[in-house]
Amino acid sequence: MRTVTMADRSLPALGQGTWYLGEGRAPRDEEIKALRAGFDAGMTLVDTAEMYGDGAAETLVGEALGDVRDEIFIVDKVLPTHASREGIATACERSLERLGTEHIDLYLLHWRQSEVRLDEMIEGMDDLMRNGSIGAWGVSNLDPDDMTDLLAETGGPGCATDQVLYNLTRRGPEVDLFGLLGEHGIPVMAYSPIEQARLLAPGEGHDALVRVAAGHDASPAQVALAWTIRSGDVLAIPRTGSPAHAKENAMAGDLTLSDEDLAALDAAFPVPPEPVPLEIL
Ligand code: NDP
Repeated sequence: MRTVTMADRSLPALGQGTWYLGEGRAPRDEEIKALRAGFDAGMTLVDTAEMYGDGAAETLVGEALGDVRDEIFIVDKVLPTHASREGIATACERSLERLGTEHIDLYLLHWRQSEVRLDEMIEGMDDLMRNGSIGAWGVSNLDPDDMTDLLAETGGPGCATDQVLYNLTRRGPEVDLFGLLGEHGIPVMAYSPIEQARLLAPGEGHDALVRVAAGHDASPAQVALAWTIRSGDVLAIPRTGSPAHAKENAMAGDLTLSDEDLAALDAAFPVPPEPVPLEIL
């Protein structure tokens, strides 16, 4: 499994998402088995949020952690409506309770909206780091202008990641965001790396994805994941409720795409010619 350095840690380049898990879409046992299969296969980072199922995903993650809590890196997210200095502390306490742990490894602001005071948010995160509730903090869905504002705040450069929508069909961040993050040594966390499975259905670029996958005796999902993490500065968090898919996804952490593969994928999924507003799901 390839690794990415984030929050002063060497982390697996592939972790596990949890949006829609714990909401009864698939049998609960199966979803827990999927997370455990992913952990066993090396995807020892899990991403969740207080928003997902109103805490249901955090509760599911807590169950899946079982006796391996210490081996897992937990990423959680606070809603912008809870991102005041005091609000963050209360939200974090509730999340810790649902997760059944005393420590979130990386805590992110889920997105920025007008009521979020970035200085207060940073102070709230720093409080939590000081009292040991979280190990590091970061943000999600911040575009280059938002990141510039954040980095200008006292303590802003302490941000450990920007978690954004990034996959073969969403290459906008390559144009104007990744360079800025790179200059500040901030690695990216890519969400929806399989475009919520839409990348696996026939559509634009799909034939190229299938051809590259066939050349590696791999699945299109594995190629989509290997492509997302190809730079070494991007960590991706695919979500699955299937143990078989979890094992399959983890194997993508060892799949290296050739220059020819990358050229074929570039042609089928081009980078936008100029900056586009940061997309959000
Ligand atoms: P993904 O791009 O991870 O796609 C998930 C879908 O892909 C599911 O339908 C899953 O179905 C399917 N899938 C996964 N692996 C395979 C496979 N090997 N073969 C076939 N199908 C597969 O979508 P998400 O939107 O869930 O993104 C991932 C995570 O990113 C989220 O769960 C969440 O943690 C985070 N996120 C963060 C956001 C933010 O605002 N910060 C916004 C959106 C997501 P199946 O269960 O059948 O495998």
